[in-house]
Amino acid sequence: MATSNGTMVDAPRWCKTDLGKRAWQVGATVAGAHAGEVDREGRFPAEATEAMRTSGLLGSMVPVALGGEGAGLAAISESIRAMASHCASSALVLAMHQIEVAYLIHHGETDALQDLLGRVATGSVLMANANSEVGLGGDVGRSLCGLEHRDGMVHLEKDVLALSYAAYADAITVNCRRDVEAAETDQVMLICGPGSFSVEPTGVWDTMGLRGTCSSGYRLVVDEREDMVLTDTWSTVVNRTGLAATAATLNSVWLGIAEAAAATAHASVRAEARRSIGTTPPSALRLAEMLVVLGQARAVLADTIAHIEAVGTGAAMEDDLSLVLEMRDLKLSMTTLSADVVLRALTVCGLSGYKRDSKFSVERNVRDVLGGQLMANNNRFYVDNAQLLTMVKRF
Ligand SMILES: Cc1cc2nc3c(=O)[nH]c(=O)nc-3n(C[C@H](O)[C@H](O)[C@H](O)COP(=O)(O)OP(=O)(O)OC[C@H]3O[C@@H](n4cnc5c(N)ncnc54)[C@H](O)[C@@H]3O)c2cc1C
Repeated sequence: MATSNGTMVDAPRWCKTDLGKRAWQVGATVAGAHAGEVDREGRFPAEATEAMRTSGLLGSMVPVALGGEGAGLAAISESIRAMASHCASSALVLAMHQIEVAYLIHHGETDALQDLLGRVATGSVLMANANSEVGLGGDVGRSLCGLEHRDGMVHLEKDVLALSYAAYADAITVNCRRDVEAAETDQVMLICGPGSFSVEPTGVWDTMGLRGTCSSGYRLVVDEREDMVLTDTWSTVVNRTGLAATAATLNSVWLGIAEAAAATAHASVRAEARRSIGTTPPSALRLAEMLVVLGQARAVLADTIAHIEAVGTGAAMEDDLSLVLEMRDLKLSMTTLSADVVLRALTVCGLSGYKRDSKFSVERNVRDVLGGQLMANNNRFYVDNAQLLTMVKRF
């Protein structure tokens, strides 16, 4: 059985885990079937998200004791990569959700947060994030908004620069100043549970790619219980969990897009070979070159995830500065290698790849993959690593 772009429903060899294979099925049968329409109309991938809820993908990272599968970062990465092979927007929804779930798992100490985690395990809670703020660009080290504390409750209003699938999320994580008097860098993280927030769009999301994430600006207004604020500071949460979870998940999206374009290029070369049995089409040489770059991208992701899993979470992660360098480098490598693979695939497919209505079209992959370099901006990562390199003794 084959999908509309010719990729097979049978999971590829790199899909080793049960979770990855399940995600591949959802991707091939649901997300991929709606991906064209989601992109064209810039609409939320509702069908794929529903399938991610019912197939257990949304709850997969939650510990077994709380009703989830306790999936580790390698399996989560595989599931996102599998989804991205069919629909990048659906994969990005899954990736961002899993980052927020990781925050809850490692820092959600209160009963209220544990209760929410139990609900995530059932698939009934899709989590989004409101980290960016109007006026700060991609600088998440500061917040202009702050918590107002009132009788065991907190009130918050934030102008979010880009809030993916805000209108469809059941819960939203948001960083903000500890209180309205606190310094801009004195931040905490509030988890806005179901029913505690409202979102009002302040812009439109009409982008060149990743159109289904519906990440326009929003005015977020929250009234939530105080025990939904994480006890760890925002910087602790980011350093101990955020960097690793983000590295493993978002980079899986960019790799998955590259895998999709590579599969299309392969199918195109095989079709050409069938038309001239006995000769190797010239495009096969370009395909062979593309596979080398794809191999580099696969290797750098697998290597860094293995290092993350070996170090674990908590203070050890925060203290390992060479791993911090490596995780940022993963993003810088992956966003450029995956774009390289996709553009090479375009060359392999030629005009059929450039056309939007062709079976061998990679145009959506080209548009989608470029988002990786902006989310967050690669320049910020280079600047941060340049600073860090003056401090570390070895890498
Ligand atoms: C598909 C997509 C989905 C998104 N979803 C969400 C979401 O769900 N929630 C959310 O909160 N945000 C989301 N974002 C926003 C994202 O995380 C970034 O905050 C945002 O893209 C940054 O916008 P920017 O490039 O204009 O800002 P900046 O990062 O500020 O970059 C603007 C320019 O300034 C330069 N620059 C500024 N400061 C520095 C510096 N210190 N060092 C180096 N260069 C610097 C950059 O190089 C760049 O040229 C999403 C973005 C995308 C593309």
